[in-house]
Amino acid sequence: MTNIEGKVALITGASSGIGAATARKLAQTGVTVGIAARRMDRLNELKNQIEADGGKAMAIEMDVINPDAVETGVARLVEAHGTIDILFNNAGLMPLSDIDTFKTDEWHRMVDVNLKGLLNTTAAALPHMIKQKSGHVFNTSSIAGRKVFKGLTVYCATKHAVTAFSDGLRMEVGNKHNIRVTCIQPGAVSTELFEQISDLALRQQMEDLRKQMTFLEGEDIADALLYALQAPAHVDLAELFIMPTQQE
Ligand code: NDP
Repeated sequence: MTNIEGKVALITGASSGIGAATARKLAQTGVTVGIAARRMDRLNELKNQIEADGGKAMAIEMDVINPDAVETGVARLVEAHGTIDILFNNAGLMPLSDIDTFKTDEWHRMVDVNLKGLLNTTAAALPHMIKQKSGHVFNTSSIAGRKVFKGLTVYCATKHAVTAFSDGLRMEVGNKHNIRVTCIQPGAVSTELFEQISDLALRQQMEDLRKQMTFLEGEDIADALLYALQAPAHVDLAELFIMPTQQE
């Protein structure tokens, strides 16, 4: 098992759901967590909780769409803590709509955050890992990065892109720079993600799904991430496909 105490992590989308649960879990194991998102009130609350439990956290205001904000946030974390050992590219949104309703603003927003945002944070953090010849990048894809669902067409396109990017990145930085890459592909997780669905029928569909099964919790994803992080250095868990037992 690899000892991760004293490592430094940057977690995007840390103000709620999977990101917040992972920040808490990593901080409990002695990792210093840079918690990044747009909602500073939520980040400050999380930082206070982590510190009250004896952990170390830095709240970083970061809209992943904005490369300058990403660069500045990464620079702040590195200046305060020396480097970045773990990058959790997790910010994302899933507004959902049928294609023929042409909610093109939502399509573009998903591409901007789920894909281009992830590229922005990777571009800013990876040079620090390359410099120290070690690191671990986690990218949150989805079951929607493995198969396609109606009503989730653009979301699936962004998450398939995240899956493809993760595998290519793994091949390019594993051997050459000693950096591991893990693509996380969860099924349904109980978070705030469904609250952004503006199409009422699709939102109802997701609520119905919630009644049919026990969803995963953010902590379940955090546990899997921790397992991959603590694997021996020669082991890269390239994909973590994590499903609620009852989800087909
Ligand atoms: P949440 O809605 O709880 O979390 C989403 C996070 O993304 C928030 O912290 C939000 O922070 C952040 N975010 C959104 N837009 C931006 C932005 N422009 N810049 C920076 N941060 C942003 O949902 P989850 O925890 O479920 O989502 C986390 C990831 O998991 C997403 O990538 C999602 O696609 C993926 N996923 C979720 C599943 C689920 O069933 N919940 C299943 C499979 C994958 P803020 O608004 O403060 O900026």
